[in-house]
Amino acid sequence: MPPTPENYTKFYNAIAAIKSPTDKTEEELKSAYQVLFRVSDVLDGMTETSEALLEDLVRGGEVMTDSLDTLRSGVDQATMETVLSSLIESTGSVQQTVSASQRDLQELKAVMDKIQSDLAINRKTLEQDPLTGALNRQGLEHVLAKEVKRARRAAHPLTVAIIDLDEFKLVNDRHGHLVGDKVLMHFSSITKAVLRESDTLVRYGGEEFLLLLPETDINGARYLIDRLRQVNARTPFFHHSHHVDVRFSTGAAQLKSEENGHAMLIRADEAMYRAKNSGRDQVVLAD
Ligand code: GH3
Ligand code: MG
Ligand code: MG
Repeated sequence: MPPTPENYTKFYNAIAAIKSPTDKTEEELKSAYQVLFRVSDVLDGMTETSEALLEDLVRGGEVMTDSLDTLRSGVDQATMETVLSSLIESTGSVQQTVSASQRDLQELKAVMDKIQSDLAINRKTLEQDPLTGALNRQGLEHVLAKEVKRARRAAHPLTVAIIDLDEFKLVNDRHGHLVGDKVLMHFSSITKAVLRESDTLVRYGGEEFLLLLPETDINGARYLIDRLRQVNARTPFFHHSHHVDVRFSTGAAQLKSEENGHAMLIRADEAMYRAKNSGRDQVVLAD
C-alpha cells in the first residue's frame, strides 16, 4: 500500500478492528447523500432569497437618494406629492421582500433543524462499534475532547481505564471466532451494567475496552473495576453448557492538570501492560 493518509486510516481501522467510515452500508451512504443534497438545496434557496433582498434594497436606496436630491433643490406641492408616493412605494416593496425573506428564513431554519438531527443520527452510526454497540475509536476522540474540557472547567476529576481481556486468543482457539464474538458482546453488556449514565464505554481494540469516567478519581476507578470483576465472575458466559472463563487486565490513569487527554490514555495503556506483565487478572493504577 502507498503511504497515503487514507491507507493509514484503513490500516489503523483494520488493526483496531473498527468499521472504517468508507465501509458504510448502502443504507448509510444513501442517507448521507440525502443529507448532502438537502444542504445543497438549502444553500441554493438562501442565495436566491438574499439576492432578491439585496436587489430590492439597492433599488430602494436609489429611489431615496433621488428623492432627497429633489427635496434639496426646493419643491412645490405637486413635486412633494410625487416624491412622497415614490418613497412610499419603494419602502413597501422593500418591506414585502423583507417579510418574504423572513418566511423563507423560517422555512430554512426548519430544514436546517431536520438536517442537524439527521447528521446526529449518521454520526451516531459512524461512531458506534457494530458488534458491541459501544463507541468506536472515532467516537472516543469527540467524547474525550469534550470530557477533558468539562473536567477542567468544573475542576472535576476525570479517569480512564483500559481493559484488555486475558488470553483471549485461547477463547477463539477453543470455541471458534463466533463464540469469541459473543463473549465480547457479553462482556460489554456486563460492563455497561456497572457503569453510570455519564460514563462512556469504548471498544478500544479487538478485545480491548476503554472506560471514560467523568467525576471519578483513580480510587473510584479501582472500586468500579473491582465491582466489574465481581459481576463478571458471577455472570459467566456459557457455550453448550461450557463455562467460558473471561478474565481481564486493567490500567487506569487520572487526568493530571498539565497533561492532555491522549497523555492520560498513554499512561493508562502503560499501566495495563504492567498489569499483564505482573501476571494478568489485576488492575494497575498509573501514578
Ligand atoms: P493477552 O492479552 O492476555 O496477552 O492475550 P490475548 O490472547 O488476549 O492477546 P493477543 O493480543 O495475543 O490476542 C488478542 C486476540 O483477540 C486475537 C484475536 O483472535 C482476538 N480478537 C480480537 N478481536 C476480536 C474480535 O472482534 N472477535 C473475536 N472473536 N476475537 C477477536
Ligand atoms: Mg489486546
Ligand atoms: Mg488480550
